[in-house]
Amino acid sequence: MSYKITKGKVIHSCTVCRVDLENSLNEAGQNDNCPRCGASFVVPGERELSELRTAEEASRRMEAQKRAEEQLEEQQRTQRQAEARQRAAARNGENAVSGAAVGPPMAVSRLNVPKYSGLSAIGWIIIFVGIIDICIVVVVALFLIVGAIAAANDFNSRGTAGAFALAGLGSIPLVISGILSGVVLIGIGNAIHAYRDIAMNSFNLTNAVLQLAQAKTE
Ligand SMILES: [Zn+2]
Repeated sequence: MSYKITKGKVIHSCTVCRVDLENSLNEAGQNDNCPRCGASFVVPGERELSELRTAEEASRRMEAQKRAEEQLEEQQRTQRQAEARQRAAARNGENAVSGAAVGPPMAVSRLNVPKYSGLSAIGWIIIFVGIIDICIVVVVALFLIVGAIAAANDFNSRGTAGAFALAGLGSIPLVISGILSGVVLIGIGNAIHAYRDIAMNSFNLTNAVLQLAQAKTE
């Protein structure tokens, strides 16, 4: 029986009445009947159909293998990237151990150091008040001493004004406490200034650490 195959069709002819017949190649090997004489026949082209299916299967398998290879390549690429990230993280870890920054470079490279002008002014005012206090007390003390000496002389010459001398002596504790309070005021003013220095230095220290960290990451 002669037949030919074109574009997925089997062209053949009826073995009984010789009429031209056409079947789909997918029907090869199946039973059919001649539409003209009703003779039953087996659609030819079984071998070609089987070859075609084998070729299709091979093509599918090749396609699947290609996809698998692509997937594997993608996995390997992802793994390489992960390893690179791990190595970078390890390097940053070493930097952290040697005293610098962990992770990506810091966005903040320097903090603004506040001036604490209020603290500075209050400190100076208290120191100034303390100095003025001591000056006044010293002047008052001089007057008292001079007055006491004058009173003592008066007492010696006329024997009447001893109370003034005693008043001068009695003022000595007041003078001492006045000087002490001036010293305490100056101390408080300086303590406020020291507090301001400490606050500013904490910012300077942070800036020094930031600078070190940046030097390490560059
Ligand atoms: Zn026929």
